[in-house]
Amino acid sequence: MTLMQEAKCGRVAPEIESAARREGLEPEKLARLVAAGRVVIPRNIRRERPGAMATGIGEMLTTKVNVNVGTSQSLDSPENEVEKARAAVAAGADAVMDLSTGGDLDLVRCQILRAVSVPVGTVPLYNAAVAKDLSSQGFFNALEKHAKDGVDFVTVHVGVNKNSLERLANDPRIMGVVSRGGSLTMKYISETGEDNPYYKEYDYLLAIAREYDLAGELVKRAREAGVQAMVEGPGHVPADEIETSVKAMKHLTDGAPLYLLGPLVTDIAPGYDHITAAMGGVIAGMAGADFLCATTPSEHLDLPTKDDVIEGTYVTRIAAHAADLTRPGVRDRARAWDLQMAKARADLDWQGQFQSAINPDRARQIRHRRGVETDTCTMCSELCAIRLAKEAMEKGVGQKR
Ligand code: SF4
Repeated sequence: MTLMQEAKCGRVAPEIESAARREGLEPEKLARLVAAGRVVIPRNIRRERPGAMATGIGEMLTTKVNVNVGTSQSLDSPENEVEKARAAVAAGADAVMDLSTGGDLDLVRCQILRAVSVPVGTVPLYNAAVAKDLSSQGFFNALEKHAKDGVDFVTVHVGVNKNSLERLANDPRIMGVVSRGGSLTMKYISETGEDNPYYKEYDYLLAIAREYDLAGELVKRAREAGVQAMVEGPGHVPADEIETSVKAMKHLTDGAPLYLLGPLVTDIAPGYDHITAAMGGVIAGMAGADFLCATTPSEHLDLPTKDDVIEGTYVTRIAAHAADLTRPGVRDRARAWDLQMAKARADLDWQGQFQSAINPDRARQIRHRRGVETDTCTMCSELCAIRLAKEAMEKGVGQKR
């Protein structure tokens, strides 16, 4: 049985127990959310992750962060991508996606699967494209290969089909389709005249997903088949349209966990797209998005370096946490973290501040970079507002005489 089928039978699988413990939630409650498709816990029965905690994505759980890594046809070092995956996890990524399109894709994927203990996702279609096998069989061979290798979740562009392309042609967008998988699917449709194989033979796709207990971006039929499903949403949305867009997607998919890249709130900031995406990520998270894909400073410009990946991971984690401060079910825990930092600041307790920081090393490095060691900091020095206020309070200011 798949995890979802077990949950539907009222059983609490070890993954549900583990994810519930991580979130401080009752396992039975989490099992009900998994059974209803409101939460997914990516796993592949072929992949062993000894000692690793399960990752739940969806309602009543903290907003999770995925980080993309992967080779390109210009830069195809498996070692670099494995190193980036490890760096992302060390920076707190909840999941990693291998989007490799260059070199030996099977090798990179298997190395990443071994290198990290978080759920690993892929886009199997890239394999078919690189193998120059954009045929119906090629689509499914790639999916099955990834499933056999132990991939925990996959992106399948089921929504890109003849019908949606017809609507796109009638109502064109400036950049058409910007998703790599989407454009490859378009290529298949235009060259063969056939519909998207993942859409046309969706039951076969579900059978593969069920066999390996993969999570995919499918909803009603996936749930009926006992396959966990997430939905991936748009990556470029003006700030004032994000809430409506998230709520509409949640409504249409009956609360399926929603996965977003960004969304980026403006297009004019190449080099800073991790920031424009984080702005959108906060708004989306507040509106109900569950899974944010990290964007790096090199988005739209270059294959990210390891430092880009680390920066993107932290910035996206900040967005996820900012959303969690308002998120039902996790708000109190999220606020407790901020409170811990506020108390350390009020005490000018620098070690406490480092410990509470999302990236302690960065905070410590900036604090000490000029070598000036005082109990305040070089911002206000002797005029430290915190110290002056504390001294005034200790002298009894504000107390009734
Ligand atoms: S010196 Fe200024 S910035 Fe630094 S801790 Fe004190 S109040 Fe804050």
